[in-house]
Amino acid sequence: MHSAQDVRVKIKSREFLNFTSNDYLGLANHPKVKEALIAGVKKYGAGSGASHLISGHQTPHHELELAMADFFKADKALLFSSGFMANLGLIDTLAERGSLIIQDKLNHASILDAARLSRAGLKRYRHNDMGELENLLVKNKAKEKLLVSDSVFSMDGDVAKIKSLVSLAKQYSSALILDEAHGFGVLGENGRGAVFAAGKLEDKPIIMATLGKALGTYGAIVAGPADLVEYLVQKARTYTYTTSLPPALAHASLTALELLKNADDKRAHLLNIIQRFKANMRNINVRLMDSKTPIQPLIVGRNSLAIKLAEKLYERNILVQAIRPPTVPENSARLRFTFSANHTLDEIDVLSQNIKAVL
Ligand SMILES: *Cc1c(COP(=O)(O)O)cnc(C)c1O
Repeated sequence: MHSAQDVRVKIKSREFLNFTSNDYLGLANHPKVKEALIAGVKKYGAGSGASHLISGHQTPHHELELAMADFFKADKALLFSSGFMANLGLIDTLAERGSLIIQDKLNHASILDAARLSRAGLKRYRHNDMGELENLLVKNKAKEKLLVSDSVFSMDGDVAKIKSLVSLAKQYSSALILDEAHGFGVLGENGRGAVFAAGKLEDKPIIMATLGKALGTYGAIVAGPADLVEYLVQKARTYTYTTSLPPALAHASLTALELLKNADDKRAHLLNIIQRFKANMRNINVRLMDSKTPIQPLIVGRNSLAIKLAEKLYERNILVQAIRPPTVPENSARLRFTFSANHTLDEIDVLSQNIKAVL
């Protein structure tokens, strides 16, 4: 890529319409976010120079944690340097040998790796299969149980059954973590995510949200009860033993958060885009998955066919990735289209016409 992340990008000097980014609200290259980053650098320099517990916890880090706790209506929030590290630190801290981690088979790789790292027992249930999940919860006598799910599944775009997850976790005395990497900023009023969009819940799950997707910057937040966050500060190795994120980035994230909260019009446009794309595909008899989010996969099955279609679209200045195993299950290679609120409906029609032509 030879240009900034955006809906139109350059590879060498050639311009492409981009359908590969997680920058759902167009904040990665937003003038106000860039200005905030520059202002942050002027005030705080390029890097933090230390880990949080030594001397790397600076004003913008702290302000961002307070703002995120408030946003997710949690007691406290803790800033990690990336979503991968947040999942590793959080899950490895809460589970140990003898505990049981139960997770959806389509969860993100970082959640699977975290479970392995913790040495806890691991059970995985079929994607969104609440019956199989309940069986696992009933059968198992582990003294501590931890249930973990993506809230929006990163390669399928569908949403977890959040109400059921929350009530099963409560019924069987399990902790529950929901990974809002693709829900934060995209779903719900003010972009509060899939958990808040699910309506009134019996209990509050622990939320992990990444800042590198809809927020357009970098880093991640774990939001939850005060004692959980205090425990993570003391015990989460990916928090303690790494240099804190550049303070200027935390400063830019604060500005991005204000923009994200006030982007209900952008989220409404994103919904129009999704509906337009789905209608266009119906008109040419292309079957999509049951996704109502900006992640719209078109399953083609064979790897070679997925690659071929992506190449043909590339020739037509459309950028999309062929996603293949092991990122997705065998025989489910796909083109994964992702949309941004900065796409126009005309651009969705251009994409659709090109898909029709290459098919
Ligand atoms: C992207 C992603 C992560 C990792 O977040 P990073 O900040 O990119 O490290 C974790 N979980 C899910 C579901 C993701 O899609």
